[in-house]
Amino acid sequence: MYDVIIVGGGPGGLTAAIYAARGGLKTAVIESMVPGGQAALTESIENYPGFPDGISGFELANNFYKQALNQGAEFIFENVSELKLTDKVKTIVTDKQSIEARSVIIAAGSKPRFLGIEGEKTFHGRGVSYCATCDGAFYKGKRLAVIGGGNAALEEAVYLTKFATEVFIIHRRQGFRASQIAIEHAQSNPKISFMLNYTVEEISGKDKVEKVVLKNKESKEIEDLKVDGVFIYIGTEPNTKFVADYFNTDEKGYIITDEFLRTSIEGVYAVGDIRTTPLRQVATAVGDGAIAGVQIEKYLAAYERIK
Ligand code: NAP
Repeated sequence: MYDVIIVGGGPGGLTAAIYAARGGLKTAVIESMVPGGQAALTESIENYPGFPDGISGFELANNFYKQALNQGAEFIFENVSELKLTDKVKTIVTDKQSIEARSVIIAAGSKPRFLGIEGEKTFHGRGVSYCATCDGAFYKGKRLAVIGGGNAALEEAVYLTKFATEVFIIHRRQGFRASQIAIEHAQSNPKISFMLNYTVEEISGKDKVEKVVLKNKESKEIEDLKVDGVFIYIGTEPNTKFVADYFNTDEKGYIITDEFLRTSIEGVYAVGDIRTTPLRQVATAVGDGAIAGVQIEKYLAAYERIK
């Protein structure tokens, strides 16, 4: 029986693990992939304090992971298939085993949103990607489209110019959701062109991506743009597939917590990108993890009195 099981090993989950294990709790993190979550797939993180020149997401995540291990947290690299959370003792079912815990922290993060257009699924892995850090190097000397107008799209477009000769940022309106600094970096990069007020109607090719079909929102005209790859950054959605029914969520499916990061179920907390929050950053996920790690200690101190 664990004191706390943390579902998800991104920055929020890893920080919760550091605090909980350091507080003497028997702690395990269950992670289906590698530790670090979306942050580990980010080429460079420049707004996490303590690293004036930025740090690679992978390196930062790996440091969090090593710190959690050093504090005594265990790691279980399995896929969670079911959670049974309403009883006092919680059960976490993975593809391989059932694990019991007195408390649970949901830190399963978010995943890239799909565009849902023709060709997106067909060419996923053959020109369509959601991760510039993972796939950018395949496009040396090529032409790329980046779809979206948030921080992720603009920052990753700049990163992709390390490899590609031309990068087209295709965005559905004139204004951006990204920060001013991200906009300026992209605008001042000579390899980047902006195609604003365009929607992507289709991604097409024979064996791999050859072009995107665009629609000009004003003139309604259809245009082809020849590219070798398409990177889609149109936001994220919560990884709540296996937990959605349990919790109070907002209209987008993010878990609602109180200021102590308690969910609507006793003994279950939620941290990081999976919860309703005004900002989704490594720094905010880390803050969440610290709060939940400490709150769990308090919850467990009173555990025997809970019916
Ligand atoms: P985001 O900020 O939600 O932006 C998504 C962008 O995609 C928006 O410009 C949106 O257009 C567009 N979009 C959404 N659905 C679309 C669709 N169906 N078709 C075409 N375009 C669509 O998402 P994000 O950039 O992935 O970032 C996710 C979170 O991570 C945010 O909280 C962001 O601040 C954070 N983040 C931060 C940093 C950083 O601080 N350096 C870096 C990366 C990510 P509209 O603008 O028209 O809605």
